[in-house]
Amino acid sequence: MARIVKKFGGTSVGDVTRIKNVAARVAKAVEDGHEVVVVLSAMSGMTNQLVGYCREASVMHDAREYDAVLAAGEQITIGLLSICLQDLGVPARSFLGWQVPVRTNDMHGAARIETIETEALEKCLSEGRVAVVAGFQGIARDNRIATLGRGGSDTSAVAVAAAVKADRCDIYTDVDGVYTTDPRIVPKARKLEKITYEEMLEMASLGAKVLQTRSVALAMNFGVRVQVLSSFEDLPGTLVVSEDEIVEQEVVSGIAYSRGEAKVTVVGLEDRPGQVSHLFAPLADKNINVDMIVQSASEDGNRTDLTFTVPEDDLARAVEVLESNKEEMKFLDLVYRAGVVKVSVVGVGMRSHAGVARKMFDTLAEKSINVQVISTSEIKISVIIDAEYTELAVRALHTAYGLDVTTEA
Ligand code: ADP
Ligand code: ASP
Ligand code: MG
Repeated sequence: MARIVKKFGGTSVGDVTRIKNVAARVAKAVEDGHEVVVVLSAMSGMTNQLVGYCREASVMHDAREYDAVLAAGEQITIGLLSICLQDLGVPARSFLGWQVPVRTNDMHGAARIETIETEALEKCLSEGRVAVVAGFQGIARDNRIATLGRGGSDTSAVAVAAAVKADRCDIYTDVDGVYTTDPRIVPKARKLEKITYEEMLEMASLGAKVLQTRSVALAMNFGVRVQVLSSFEDLPGTLVVSEDEIVEQEVVSGIAYSRGEAKVTVVGLEDRPGQVSHLFAPLADKNINVDMIVQSASEDGNRTDLTFTVPEDDLARAVEVLESNKEEMKFLDLVYRAGVVKVSVVGVGMRSHAGVARKMFDTLAEKSINVQVISTSEIKISVIIDAEYTELAVRALHTAYGLDVTTEA
């Protein structure tokens, strides 16, 4: 007998028929003698619809009320799954975040889980019932409902798995595992049998939304065994494991992309100590997340140009902050544009192999794709390019690094 947390994403609970399918899977695990905690997302499209309602109601909405609205989607699916399970003769009950309780900090809209009290869940399991927990939500220190940021039910699942000391955490989704890149844009993407926590963390933070970044960080810190698999087919999925469990390590294990980026160039910034800090402090104060940064060498020793990227949604605010501080920040001009994409190659094998960056630049050059910004870390290289070349770039890189699936003749 094992204790298993099973998380089902939006498409997997997209309508009542699919929820019945989830109930059947859960019932099977219970029949096999396992203790099961289920974590659910809202029906696919629901959270987007709720975001739309908030925006329509007011552009400057209160983040606490936004959370009250957004958390509603998961309430529906946990209730429905509990009904379906009971219908199959499997005792089950639903838990909203506050009923567990899942306690978070006060960062409404992007709250972090601080603790999960396990008493109620343990009681439920000891009574032989399935606990069906609403993902993506908790209760903040201010005693208000908080949501964990988009895609946050993965994080709920891993956090619950760590809290109840589950043997593993199964993440069921609409693809049958983690691929070398998004299988929806690269048909030749290859399913990975295993991926390291570190690589998965990079892939997720660089745009692979199959797992929320925070969920991978939690899994790594708490040693939760995570498996990504299909909720529609019985196929082996992908295990997220530590590095020593991987025997043959590829140099590059995946390609990720992140749309919705914007690029800002600060032209003619005075070249003296403290200038960069003056520039970024007000952006940080406004919670604007600056990502890649490049500063060019100053030609005359007096002025330099600096380029950075921000999420597209933050571009208008970033420009406003910079323009309104232009005098103190001492720059001449601002050039900015949305519609760029970040494409990254990821692999722990990069640490010990040269030539990975060169291959990336050669491949993009062959396709006449202009590289606008570059950043690297030990296990990844990212570039900013025009969004219209996303598919072309990702496919070409996928082929260049030998990741394409090989079809047997
Ligand atoms: P869920 O609603 O189940 O949480 P998501 O839409 O959040 O599902 O995540 C699954 C999606 O992630 C897939 O449909 C796929 O398009 C996308 N994806 C992006 N990169 C990858 C990758 N490397 N491997 C698998 N899926 C990926
Ligand atoms: N329903 C939430 C969202 O769409 C949480 C999730 O699906 O993980 O972001
Ligand atoms: Mg998701």
